[in-house]
Amino acid sequence: MGVVGLLLVISLLLGAMATVLIRRERQLIDARSDFIARVSHELRTPLTQIRMFTESILLGRLPEPEAQVRALKIINRETLRLSHLVENILSFSRVSDKPLVPEPAPYALMGLLNRLKEEFELQLEALGAQLDVHCDQDHEVIHNRDGLLQLLTILLDNALKYGPENQHVTLTARRSGDLLQIFIQDQGPGIPQSEQEKIWRPYYRLDKERRRGIAGTGIGLAVAKDIAAAIGAEMSMKSSPNGSCFIVKLPQRGGHHG
Ligand code: ADP
Repeated sequence: MGVVGLLLVISLLLGAMATVLIRRERQLIDARSDFIARVSHELRTPLTQIRMFTESILLGRLPEPEAQVRALKIINRETLRLSHLVENILSFSRVSDKPLVPEPAPYALMGLLNRLKEEFELQLEALGAQLDVHCDQDHEVIHNRDGLLQLLTILLDNALKYGPENQHVTLTARRSGDLLQIFIQDQGPGIPQSEQEKIWRPYYRLDKERRRGIAGTGIGLAVAKDIAAAIGAEMSMKSSPNGSCFIVKLPQRGGHHG
């Protein structure tokens, strides 16, 4: 092959590379603007609910105390939803590069799980769903408390969002050797094998969830994974058509426990 041929091959290769890069860049731009649209939608829905129900109370449209309590419960639930969303968006750009410091002293995992259950009480009630917490002993952990709570919140929120109403979700903490494992099992539709790796990617959502009209931003599991790395935990999942199980593994000796 002469010099001209060689130059031709090189320029063809460069052209192909440029096309791939441009396509990738365009995909990223599309994913981002799609994400912004989803976030705006996710912000607008709870805000509308909150405004509507506060107005109803203030204008005396709900004179019955029971109706007022119902409205306040919705306001409370939607406020929590907003704060989870904002937390996740903030973490999305922040967590990945810095570790979340362990707590100065061990704390009881059961206390944290009870707090989680309390936070979801109104959501569980609205869905008619049940959350069973099994913790065989009062395990102590030292992993960053806020980080662990946010991580479990994302998983529980997904379990409730993608599973059917009236389902039973179980949260089990079990020690196995040097690992404390937390399992979140739902009775949802499960995640197809071919998608199980992709769901951890930022912005990624299953097509069928979009079609079902379930709102989401696609960053939840990406944030959860980043938090896991930042608190020294590991995450995995198993799924079948009867439900998904997300697993958080917390090393108990070595790592953060020293
Ligand atoms: P979001 O929930 O905002 O879409 P996530 O990153 O938390 O974003 O989840 C990514 C995708 O993984 C979801 O869109 C959904 O399709 C799928 N997924 C996550 N958790 C579950 C679950 N418990 N059951 C079924 N599908 C799930």
